[in-house]
Amino acid sequence: MRHSVQELHNAAYKWLTATGSSAEEARIVTEHLVNANLRGHDSHGVGMIAQYAPMLKDGRLHNNTAPRLLKDGGAILQFAGDRGYGQRIGHDATEMAIARAKETGICMYTIANTCHLGRIGTYGEQCANAGMVSLHFVNVTNYQPLVAPWGGSDARFGTNPFCCAIPATDENGLFLLDFATSIVAMGKTRVAYLAKKNFPYPVMVDAKGQPTADPKVMWEDPKGALLPMGLYKGAGLCFACELLAGLLTTGGTNTPELMDRDGAIVNNMTSFVIDPSKLCDLTWMKREMDAMIRYVKASPEADHEGNPILCPGEIELQRTAERTANGVEISDGEWAAILKNCADVGVAESEIVC
Ligand code: NAD
Repeated sequence: MRHSVQELHNAAYKWLTATGSSAEEARIVTEHLVNANLRGHDSHGVGMIAQYAPMLKDGRLHNNTAPRLLKDGGAILQFAGDRGYGQRIGHDATEMAIARAKETGICMYTIANTCHLGRIGTYGEQCANAGMVSLHFVNVTNYQPLVAPWGGSDARFGTNPFCCAIPATDENGLFLLDFATSIVAMGKTRVAYLAKKNFPYPVMVDAKGQPTADPKVMWEDPKGALLPMGLYKGAGLCFACELLAGLLTTGGTNTPELMDRDGAIVNNMTSFVIDPSKLCDLTWMKREMDAMIRYVKASPEADHEGNPILCPGEIELQRTAERTANGVEISDGEWAAILKNCADVGVAESEIVC
């Protein structure tokens, strides 16, 4: 069933404030979750409250937590996330990094041990909308590993996302490359599992290491693992995210040798924000980018089935326009889980549904 932006907003904002978040924190987290739905990444949308609820209840997620500045080294800002809502920690830290990059030309900022940062493209958009180029490398700790290493048959990594953002031009929307380094993000297996759908091709291995398209291997015992994207090169990027995010933030990697996992979704992020105006003329940069995009899009289409060549970030813009107008399709299972979590904290369905 389709749900309006207002209904999604109501569910997230009311659940967040009912569970104790300040109005400002609830606003930032809600905007992030609803925008993830609008951009087509339901895996990181309002449905996530079902996973945040137990973490909040037993003290593994700390609401009303701001990023704590550990080190201010000019072009380096190092933050602790202290298990706050990643959407709020990430938003506030990125704001500070953008302001710094405007002074220094580049700001490398790190965030350690925040709860789930959500959709990493949100921070890429924040930077690009401020005229900045950005790169983000993320690892996942505390949560059970989900992704098999290249050549392995069980999970050793999180879905370790990577993001690269470049500001929009007059002709083109922002360039936003943002993905999990597994073939599919874990949240997409949740959405498929709740909707009782298989993937069109194997994106996981089962507990015996056999390729499978059935998402139940990620949600029912015995558990399987997600496959890394892009063969050994994608698996290598996943490993690079693990090390860049785990080491430079000081948040650590997901090795059980050095950490007792408590099952919370914890992220570390190492990011670079670059002010392109310190490196090149912006008029030239935009003209060059538009010309390259025109050149790429002029390539004859491969499948002749009306699937045009798109730039990274373009499909999200298209989905946002369509979903804002027509609402967001959410499976009955996922919507029931959202309503149940709201009901558990005293928010009735009648307060959500418009
Ligand atoms: P995905 O597979 O949908 O890939 C998205 C990227 O591919 C975008 O840049 C998109 O613009 C581009 N794209 C999609 N179709 C395209 C086409 N036809 N032509 C050109 N480009 C195209 O994304 P995903 O791997 O499922 O990740 C979903 C989200 O999950 C991301 O926002 C990611 O940041 C987030 N994530 C977060 C965590 C975390 O721990 N916080 C972990 C994993 C993933």
